Amino acid sequence: MRNFTYTRAESPQEALTLISTHANAKFLGGGTNLVDLMRENIEQPDALIDVTRLPAKGIAESADGGISIGAEVRNTALANHPLIRQRYPLLSQAILFGASGQIRNMATVGGNIMQRTRCYYFYDETSRCNKRKPGSGCDAKEGFNRIHAILGASENCIATHPSDMCVALSALDATVRVDGPRGERTIPFDAFHCLPGDTPHVETTLGANELITSIDLPPLPFARWSRYRKVRDRASYAFALVSVAAAIEIENGRIRNVRLALGGVAPKPWRAYQAEQVLAGAPANLETFRRAADAELSSARGYRYNSFKIELARRTMASVLSELAEAGENQ
Ligand SMILES: Cc1cc2nc3c(=O)[nH]c(=O)nc-3n(C[C@H](O)[C@H](O)[C@H](O)COP(=O)(O)OP(=O)(O)OC[C@H]3O[C@@H](n4cnc5c(N)ncnc54)[C@H](O)[C@@H]3O)c2cc1C
Repeated sequence: MRNFTYTRAESPQEALTLISTHANAKFLGGGTNLVDLMRENIEQPDALIDVTRLPAKGIAESADGGISIGAEVRNTALANHPLIRQRYPLLSQAILFGASGQIRNMATVGGNIMQRTRCYYFYDETSRCNKRKPGSGCDAKEGFNRIHAILGASENCIATHPSDMCVALSALDATVRVDGPRGERTIPFDAFHCLPGDTPHVETTLGANELITSIDLPPLPFARWSRYRKVRDRASYAFALVSVAAAIEIENGRIRNVRLALGGVAPKPWRAYQAEQVLAGAPANLETFRRAADAELSSARGYRYNSFKIELARRTMASVLSELAEAGENQ
């Protein structure tokens, strides 16, 4: 690991000033991803600016009836907060399905949305990886690609985004609030993470030296009937092969409102807009749910070891939507 300096910032202004005085500094949340990447020499910052002491630690109702979540809120605190459990249960469930209790106690909201892929070839310095070394190639395409993407990948990168929390935030139409050299701005969640295209090393639209300060959730009353299901190789401590975050509102047997997002299948949290279009206004039954899943997966492409994900995603979407529809009708 390269030498670096460590400084704890006490205010956002101090954090922004400190980061601007170094050539290659990084904000440090809980360190559960960044420190691993530093150990592997994938990230080599010359300075770490610890942001966990910043005041962005609250979870509070906002004026519009939504919830604002400080970027330094720990994952455990967010998952267990009564407002989140009651109003956005899919978010609470998504977090609790991730990592381990100890890691969730350390990990912050800002760090979670910035975490990097778990592609084996990204971590292996002897492999070619366009994300780690632009222009070097992608060994995952012809390699052991069981955990890789079936949607949104490119010829240059087929890595998936690893976060569970982000899949729920995508379904909830969250907004990322950031502060930086050009002042404050907000980024819609779906525009925060990038598809790889020709530039897989560009993973987010966060600008240089910009600090994430909060995540804002809009009010979504029907999200009380929501669910996150994660399909993985082990019951705990494993990343998703496929995950589904869904919220649905049914009126007189028809789908009045729906939000659907997928994890484990794409280079970014995958909002299932095509499925949502099929679902809106349609009868809430298995036939509709299967049609919606087929529409979303019509452009899916499998590689040697991961084609099973297409059918797995199809079945998981239909199953989660059926479960929610049944629960919704009994409310
Ligand atoms: C063994 C293991 C298993 C895991 N399993 C899962 C899982 O199943 N599901 C899942 O979703 N996650 C999983 N994780 C990932 C874990 O959730 C992330 O490591 C964690 O969320 C990152 O949060 P952090 O605060 O520790 O970020 P850090 O490691 O501190 O930082 C990560 C990145 O975020 C940047 N950053 C941090 N805060 C800010 C900010 N305020 N503004 C701008 N940039 C910022 C840092 O500069 C860095 O680039 C696992 C991790 C481990 C180690």
